[in-house]
Amino acid sequence: MITGKNYIGNVLSSIGNVTFKTFNPQTNTENEIIYTEASIIEIEKATELATKAYKVFKTISGAKKSEFLNEIATEIEALGDELIQTYCSETGLPEKRAIGERGRTVFQLRSFANLVQEGSWVEAAIDTAKPNRQPIPKVDIRKMYVPLGPIVVFGASNFPLAYSTAGGDTVAAFAAGCPVIVKSHPMHAGTGELVASAIIKAAENTGMPNGVFSNLNSSGIEIGEVLVKHPQVKAVGFTGSINGGRALYDMAAKRKEPIPVFAEMGSINPVIILPNATKNEGEKWAKTYANSITLGSGQFCTNPGLILGIKGDELSNFIKILSEEIVKIEPSCMLHPNIIGAYESNKEKMIAQQGLQTAATINNEVLKNYGRQLITTVEGATFLANTTLHQEVFGPFSMAVQCENIQQLETIISKLEGQLTGTILSENNEIKNYPTIVSELQNRVGRIIFNGVPTGVEVCPSMVHGGPYPASTDSRFTAVGVNSIKRWVRPFSFQSWPNELLPDELKNENPLGILRLIDGKLTKDSIT
Ligand code: NAP
Repeated sequence: MITGKNYIGNVLSSIGNVTFKTFNPQTNTENEIIYTEASIIEIEKATELATKAYKVFKTISGAKKSEFLNEIATEIEALGDELIQTYCSETGLPEKRAIGERGRTVFQLRSFANLVQEGSWVEAAIDTAKPNRQPIPKVDIRKMYVPLGPIVVFGASNFPLAYSTAGGDTVAAFAAGCPVIVKSHPMHAGTGELVASAIIKAAENTGMPNGVFSNLNSSGIEIGEVLVKHPQVKAVGFTGSINGGRALYDMAAKRKEPIPVFAEMGSINPVIILPNATKNEGEKWAKTYANSITLGSGQFCTNPGLILGIKGDELSNFIKILSEEIVKIEPSCMLHPNIIGAYESNKEKMIAQQGLQTAATINNEVLKNYGRQLITTVEGATFLANTTLHQEVFGPFSMAVQCENIQQLETIISKLEGQLTGTILSENNEIKNYPTIVSELQNRVGRIIFNGVPTGVEVCPSMVHGGPYPASTDSRFTAVGVNSIKRWVRPFSFQSWPNELLPDELKNENPLGILRLIDGKLTKDSIT
């Protein structure tokens, strides 16, 4: 019998008595390995080790952290085909996607390695003393970011690599100087364990303190609850459903010491197709959107679940072509029977809403666990009156809303819940005629797209992957790109502190050569 293990720091452990298996949705069978859910004893040990590790890890130089992050990337690559095969067997996703996501994960690790190697990310600010200032002398104050402490990261179901064990949340927390305890996603525990082994090897190879990382398996919500409530945990990263994210957020707020929960949750990513684009470019956009809606079986947080246009023959034609194109695409395997179960029941819930019509559906039998795409359409007034129609249907689903006129379109946009993205499809410069649409949309989203698709999130410093609630619990931060490090730090000031006792980032000599704001001027100069 093959058994999976938790990593409690660098020790493999499975002392609990609740077991579970992962599932291969392509073959519709359970995978062989038996995983043991983490026990309370293991959670206690992991949090205790993380707390001890924090004391050392928070003081480790950017250069050493960079070495650690690069080494994790190398160790993940060294997992080779075993990682790719395990990923595919636990997700039903194709090998090409697994390889692409591994590339993205490694890229994220190396991007953060470069960030902390360079060091200016701490945003050091120094206001030198002015003892002769009148009427009150000015003291010396120096500020930089410092890490929060042990972080709990919930692995995401739809990105087993890039948003899970060594994904964006974990790597940003490491870069900040925070130990991480991962609550592995039960659907891909095997992928998680392999990546965890790479992190542990990298930590040992680069001399990181034991406890800088732990990986806990679970098949129910209790482990996550215990972790979020644990007094030694100082912040939480989560990607998943609104229900899950909100439950964790409320739990964290009710703690004796409330902590931040950075949850990235539901989004239907509205797409506004302006009148001339509908009329003259409708066919092009219909074809493009048929692909975007079905990409990865619609299991992306940026999936375009809502298309808004002005009622008329042109919009009807756009919906017709979109419908014709989308049914030509072969349905694909979804991640897990639970995800497809939720997809089917959410579709049914939508179809049952008064006024909603089906524009395109696939009636043929498809393979078990394959998601059949669905396009629906509804009048603007019906959409406005019924907020159930605003909910995310996670999968290859989209709803085209036919607005009476531009004013109704503006009202709908202004009443949308917070979203990760908003897209405007415009023929040439027609967008210039709709400034209210642009400003209302900007108010509801984290990223605005011109003549494109929302799927495909570039990992780069200018990316904002977040948005007003419920897209995320805190719209001031991004979950993608190096700026996501800001979620795991707090600003900290030293007043009149002896130079030799200051962190290198704030010393007069600027030994790291980083960019600092000195007396209001951005410079790499030292202070003489
Ligand atoms: P989920 O149900 O939100 O679960 C995500 C993780 O959070 C799981 O590890 C789960 O634990 C844990 N969890 C959920 N509720 C919790 C609670 N009340 N207390 C403690 N822990 C809790 O998401 P999922 O499993 O990834 O997928 C389910 C649905 O979420 C999808 O069908 C989809 O609608 C949505 N989803 C949305 C996005 C997005 O980006 N918009 C991404 C992924 C999923 P256990 O699994 O161990 O119970």
